[in-house]
Amino acid sequence: MSAYLTAANQLRTVRILSVRDDTPTIKSFLFRDRFAAKALPGQFVMIWIPGVDEVPMSLSTIDSKEGAVAITAEKVGEATSKLHRMKVGDIIGIRGPFGNGYTLTKARNVMIAGGGTGIASLAPLTEKIAKQKGFRITFLLGAKTCGELLFLERMKTVLATMNHRIVVTTEDGSYGIKGLITEPAEQLLAKEKFDMIYACGPEKMMCKMFVLTERFHVPFQASLERLMRCAIGLCGTCVIGKFRVCRDGPVFSGKQLREVRNEFGQFKRGFDSRKIAI
Ligand SMILES: Cc1cc2nc3c(=O)[nH]c(=O)nc-3n(C[C@H](O)[C@H](O)[C@H](O)COP(=O)(O)OP(=O)(O)OC[C@H]3O[C@@H](n4cnc5c(N)ncnc54)[C@H](O)[C@@H]3O)c2cc1C
Repeated sequence: MSAYLTAANQLRTVRILSVRDDTPTIKSFLFRDRFAAKALPGQFVMIWIPGVDEVPMSLSTIDSKEGAVAITAEKVGEATSKLHRMKVGDIIGIRGPFGNGYTLTKARNVMIAGGGTGIASLAPLTEKIAKQKGFRITFLLGAKTCGELLFLERMKTVLATMNHRIVVTTEDGSYGIKGLITEPAEQLLAKEKFDMIYACGPEKMMCKMFVLTERFHVPFQASLERLMRCAIGLCGTCVIGKFRVCRDGPVFSGKQLREVRNEFGQFKRGFDSRKIAI
């Protein structure tokens, strides 16, 4: 069946069940949707904000038992500003889940590195890994400043019962180590052998992580963002090299990123296809 005709691609409307202020500019919205509740960590949905636009959002909570999911949106423009004004009981539209999601491997010593709203897609992944035995997770969380650290308490709770380490960086030094998460990542990689590194965040950060994983020969998965319209591989807006991020990604392996090295971390395409520097 074509991607266009799948049940998951049909627009559903859902009521917002709860709204949580995560940081001054980021809010999480919980709702029920039976398709999204079966998503894999790293998959995304298209959220229709009535009267404004339809935008891609990662699933930041996937509760298959309750049939509920959440998105965690930063207020950056028109659609996300309208979303931020919405209240419990308001209606939004949803299509998806789309994309591939992160691949869980038998890797035992795992590093998970997230910056900004990138933590949204990494949180369900961390929860899934934490349910399995025998893993060690090094969780690296970065933000510009203390008030923008997303899901720190949630990750502390999730990881509490397992072998773990949490490293926090802020650019202004208001919490944890002052600087970028790529700095402690490099130090850790120089000392220890990791089996897999997952990353999501600003593309410059993911690109630095990619370079580190190449240098230290560690398998890598990163979730990319590009402008998206159809989300099912038809419109080509989200193209990076030979890949379409909505269909071939949004999660790409280190091997795939090597193939698009001249675009990854360099530029993305605007809705008019013109290059925009990253
Ligand atoms: C797979 C994927 C997952 C994402 N997950 C999250 C998430 O969990 N939380 C979150 O806050 N943001 C996420 N984003 C980014 C989010 O989609 C954009 O911030 C949002 O579309 C902005 O819409 P706007 O109208 O508020 O802003 P606009 O005024 O339209 O634009 C502001 C900026 O947002 C980006 N943007 C605009 N439209 C799109 C679009 N259709 N697709 C991608 N980027 C766009 C552009 O870079 C633009 O400069 C994700 C993007 C992708 C591709």
